[in-house]
Amino acid sequence: MIVKTKKLQGQVAIVTGASSGIGAGVAKALASAGAAVVVNYSSSADKAEEVLKEIKGEGGDGFTIKADVSKEEDVLRMFSETIKRYGTVDILVNNAGLQKDAKFHEMSLEQWDHVIGINLTGQFLCAREAIKEFIKRGVSPERSLSAGKIICMSSVHEVIPWAGHANYAASKGGVMMLMKTIAQEYAPLKIRVNSIGPGAIRTPINYAAWQTPQAYNQLLKLIPAKRIGEAEDVGRAAVWLASDDSEYVNGITLFVDGGMLLYPGFEDNG
Ligand code: NAD
Repeated sequence: MIVKTKKLQGQVAIVTGASSGIGAGVAKALASAGAAVVVNYSSSADKAEEVLKEIKGEGGDGFTIKADVSKEEDVLRMFSETIKRYGTVDILVNNAGLQKDAKFHEMSLEQWDHVIGINLTGQFLCAREAIKEFIKRGVSPERSLSAGKIICMSSVHEVIPWAGHANYAASKGGVMMLMKTIAQEYAPLKIRVNSIGPGAIRTPINYAAWQTPQAYNQLLKLIPAKRIGEAEDVGRAAVWLASDDSEYVNGITLFVDGGMLLYPGFEDNG
């Protein structure tokens, strides 16, 4: 048996949308656990470099790469560049995502396509390239007990409907079935695919929900834990799902939500 000082030592992870928020937190957590991390970004090169600088400052390894996850040629280039640099990929964190909110009857096709293209098609494109590489390499016990791990960043909105966000909720519902279907299809090859379903995490995507004391107090009504989540909360969950500690876990959504799914409206007797 190989004893590793860090749980992800010797492994290579791609984190999409890692220049900000949850992706940045996950990239740093995986690097702290010993993985070399490919910090993907779509527009903010300086923010991605900042994340990489922090990783390297802690003795970690990685590089930044610009790629729009909704574009097939960009995704292919991101994977081929990673494999050229490190030989293979062990972990994919399908994190990149955004919101383009509108009342449903006013939602344009452009708003619909934009969100589905990044949040759902982007996860398909990246997962497909990861699976190809995992199949090619197979299990290599000195790296991990699994041939590869994919973590899809979903949301509590894979199960909670969200008025005014039909495109986003549909994308996350789609991610849930994409994740489960790939998990079922490739479990026999020792490939593991799971999701993280964050509740409210303090990032730029939901700035308006925590920025003022009034908004924050309103938000807390939805969170039994009575605090907003931080990117580090998600980072720790990602390390667990990526590591052999969760080797027998496949096809689940691990909700990191402070209890948001516990029908908080019933806290005071309903
Ligand atoms: P964020 O806006 O801070 O980060 C989103 C990241 O995705 C950014 O780095 C952005 O550049 C990147 N991105 C956007 N379009 C891209 C593209 N085409 N190609 C590559 N990267 C792209 O928001 P966040 O809260 O950190 O969101 C990260 C993920 O977590 C998203 O999938 C989001 O749906 C999910 N999530 C967030 C919360 C929350 O409360 N913050 C809750 C549930 C789910």
